[in-house]
Amino acid sequence: MMKTLATLHDRDRNRIFRHRKKDGSIFDAEITSFEFVSGGRRARLVIAVDVTERRINEERLRDNEERYRLLFERNLAGVFRSTLDGRILEVNDSLARIFGYEREELLAQTSYSLYFSREDRQRVMTRLREQRTLSNVELRMRKRDGSPVWVLENMTLLETAEGGNIEGTIIDISERKAAQEQVEYQAYHDVLTGLPNRLLFRDRISVALAHARRARRTVAIMFLDLDHFKLVNDTLGHTVGDGLLQAAAERLVSCVRSEDTVARMGGDEFTILVSDIADTRSAATVAQKVLESISRPIEVDGHELFVTTSIGIAIFPDDGTDAETLLKNADRAMYRAKELGRNNFQFATQVIVEGKAARLSLERSLHHAFDRKEFVVHYQPMIEVGTRRVVGAEALIRWLSPEFGLMAPDEFIPVAEETGLILPIGEWVLRTACAQMKTWHRAGHKELHVAVNLSARQFQQRDLAMMIERILEDTKLPASALDIEITESTAMHNAKSSLEILTGLKQMGVRISIDDFGTGYSSLSYLKEFPIDTVKIDQSFVRDLSQGSNDGAIVSAVISMARALKLHVVAEGVETEEQLAILRREHCETIQGFLCSRPLPAEEFEAVLAARPSS
Ligand code: C2E
Ligand code: MG
Ligand code: MG
Repeated sequence: MMKTLATLHDRDRNRIFRHRKKDGSIFDAEITSFEFVSGGRRARLVIAVDVTERRINEERLRDNEERYRLLFERNLAGVFRSTLDGRILEVNDSLARIFGYEREELLAQTSYSLYFSREDRQRVMTRLREQRTLSNVELRMRKRDGSPVWVLENMTLLETAEGGNIEGTIIDISERKAAQEQVEYQAYHDVLTGLPNRLLFRDRISVALAHARRARRTVAIMFLDLDHFKLVNDTLGHTVGDGLLQAAAERLVSCVRSEDTVARMGGDEFTILVSDIADTRSAATVAQKVLESISRPIEVDGHELFVTTSIGIAIFPDDGTDAETLLKNADRAMYRAKELGRNNFQFATQVIVEGKAARLSLERSLHHAFDRKEFVVHYQPMIEVGTRRVVGAEALIRWLSPEFGLMAPDEFIPVAEETGLILPIGEWVLRTACAQMKTWHRAGHKELHVAVNLSARQFQQRDLAMMIERILEDTKLPASALDIEITESTAMHNAKSSLEILTGLKQMGVRISIDDFGTGYSSLSYLKEFPIDTVKIDQSFVRDLSQGSNDGAIVSAVISMARALKLHVVAEGVETEEQLAILRREHCETIQGFLCSRPLPAEEFEAVLAARPSS
């Protein structure tokens, strides 16, 4: 103790010594001494304060500072200190790295250089001033090379004499942001084509309509469906189908302005939003351009494909004032375009107006047509390719209307369907055709069969099988001489009940054909569940054979698949020798078409029978 005192001078205040207590524990004492004169004697006052606690605290603080420094320097997150007006006071390496700088370089910059615009930073600073701390703010900031970087930033405003410093951390979330954007992109886009999907399309319509309302402009919504896409998919495979969709998507995009939207609704359905147009004529121009563009040959995987599209157009505000209605009307107009032979466009307005007026008067006359015996059945020969013999006839109804002239079935069957008139009319056709065929059998053409078309509505008739059985009994035509034709959509509409009905008919010995094959949505593999005998390849495929365009890939695929399923194949609508030659090469057994004969009244059909030997 004396030694300690000896070293103390007045200047040496507050020195700290380590001492031992009586109980042996160590403590730090801060010793302060004063020399003074008291009663003529020099005296020294020594004060010892136990400062152990304080020492520990101080050390801890130093440790903390060190740790803080390390945390700052070695942090994986970017850490910074700057002033409110944008001077960078301190940054760590991580922060510099996030922005593509060296630390020293960044210290020479201002905060502004990390934002894309002054306003960007000011917006953040305003919020910071209001809230003092900001947590997890997502910002799109600017790297040294000008490219964007998404960061997550935490900031605190510290009051200082100069008006405030900002301390904060920044982490790079570009990767997460990209993943998130990817998810969002996928929610609004079609994966295959990269086009907007129906969600985004609806959204775009709403935006376009709002604008059109303000600007008093017009918007066109087009609904497109590729003709016969399903068949390409079924016969050439999904890869080719996908390739075709991608190519079609590209073509569609090339037909419109960048402010218009092409979307894929699903399957082979596309939609186009043509915004801000002056009148419907502009819409027609775009539609025409699309038709031409799509119909140019498309090469996919070495296949040269020829597709066309049918387009329905709905116009805002004439055909609807909301997305839902416009889409529905465009869709309906698209069906009309299909009915009218595909590869064309139809306006919804026209469909609605035309439909209403024409329908009324048609419906009225159709009601009387049956009683007035205005219907006739014509017969189109079916010819065996190998022998060129007549093997049968398809019964096709005609309406000799005093008001409308000779009406083709496509013009009145849909109305007859909707009004229910198809039931008596259909029964009459069946009876007439069976009776007629029985007459020809009696005349010596015993091998002939007659094909009768059945509409969807008839197919739902509960007593259909009974009705057919009765007609066969009444006319004495063997069941095997009757061929019932239904379209694939009719068959597929309610697959379960179809299977039942067809099985019933089959048990009676009636033959079953799938008409217009390739135009519906079924596939051969689906149809193999049904007890069918024949597929009739739709004439639109046969027509393609003559353009020298199609190498017959589709027809050839259908024929070979049909053969694998042991089905008979009839090609419809054969008009040229060239088509016949290709069909013969593909081993198609039976054809039907203008090349051999148009559908004929019964007497004329007899003349053909007389001229050509039946089988
Ligand atoms: P479908 O059953 O596919 O009949 C073939 C259609 O193609 C017939 O038209 C026929 O005249 C036509 N056609 C035949 N060969 C050729 C050709 O070489 N070139 C061209 N361009 N066309 C050819 P149609 O008679 O106008 O009948 C149209 C559709 O109406 C039929 O198509 C069938 O689905 C329906 N239909 C006809 N008669 C009846 C019937 O009695 N009942 C029902 N429900 N539907 C019928
Ligand atoms: Mg038919
Ligand atoms: Mg057909």
